[in-house]
Amino acid sequence: MDIGKAHVKAASIGIDIGGTKTLGVMLSEQGNLLAQLRFPTPPGSVEIVELVLSIYSELSGEIDNDVQLSCLGIGVAGLVDKTGEIYHAPNLVNADGLRIRELIASKVDVPVHVDNDANCAALAEIRLGAAKDIGNALVVTLGTGIGGAVVVNGTVFRGGFGLAGEPGHMLVDPNGIRCACGANGCWESYASGTGLRNLAVRRAEVGELQDVVKGLGGRHEGITGELISQAASGGDKEAIAVVDEYAKWVAIGLANCAALLDPEMIVLGGGIVGSWGLFGPRICGVFDGFLIGSEQRSSVLIKPAKMGEAAGAVGASLLGTVRGAAQ
Ligand SMILES: [Zn+2]
Repeated sequence: MDIGKAHVKAASIGIDIGGTKTLGVMLSEQGNLLAQLRFPTPPGSVEIVELVLSIYSELSGEIDNDVQLSCLGIGVAGLVDKTGEIYHAPNLVNADGLRIRELIASKVDVPVHVDNDANCAALAEIRLGAAKDIGNALVVTLGTGIGGAVVVNGTVFRGGFGLAGEPGHMLVDPNGIRCACGANGCWESYASGTGLRNLAVRRAEVGELQDVVKGLGGRHEGITGELISQAASGGDKEAIAVVDEYAKWVAIGLANCAALLDPEMIVLGGGIVGSWGLFGPRICGVFDGFLIGSEQRSSVLIKPAKMGEAAGAVGASLLGTVRGAAQ
């Protein structure tokens, strides 16, 4: 790695601990990406702490002596409380209750900040990405589940206990599809990447999507959201019907959020960003119909996220610039 930027005077490090991968970045104070590292997320809290320390050590070792390292920010796939400790992280192994901020802070010589990964991704989008200079926004990532963050007056709203911005488990149909959390009919069972698959499997079970299922040797268990996107892009009418239904569910949840929060912009991240031409217009096309007063109020802009897979790590590196960040 050659950071090779003579004008860099200060930098910060961000590490995003996801369910499957851990990404570390170093960002200059101007917001330029100087270095990036990626590892599989190990199982177990001790191993996670060791990996964070080793990424920190490797990235900070790249900095010239005259560059000041301002902070280490950590994004975690899970709920993080106001003191920066992990409250509940179902997608990480043995990480519930992990006092990660305290453990890391005792071993490094810069301030350490910890937040939820979706909050970090939102921070990256409002500082450097799609919602730059937007004061009130909602950033929603449609991945395995649904991550969310609420931006109020230019900062990420953390709520009473630091746990705000989790729209994935809003109920949209109490008699609906079973969610990984144990409830029935959570929004993310319909509108996450997994939700797209759920909707497709439900149709395949009643005999629809025959061309897609035929391509899988007759096994509809093999259906993925990506296959549906590809088939729909190729003109498969039944796959297009799934995408239309999916867009409706995405829009229903977004309209619920918008009714509560009145955002100027909604930024959508996740797999759909790569197929925005297929999903974006469909979601925007039905969103207004679900939002009260849409004919009278200013329209809410719905945009794809810009920061890509490094959003969480980039946002984590910016945590030190947030007033009131956990430290
Ligand atoms: Zn749920």
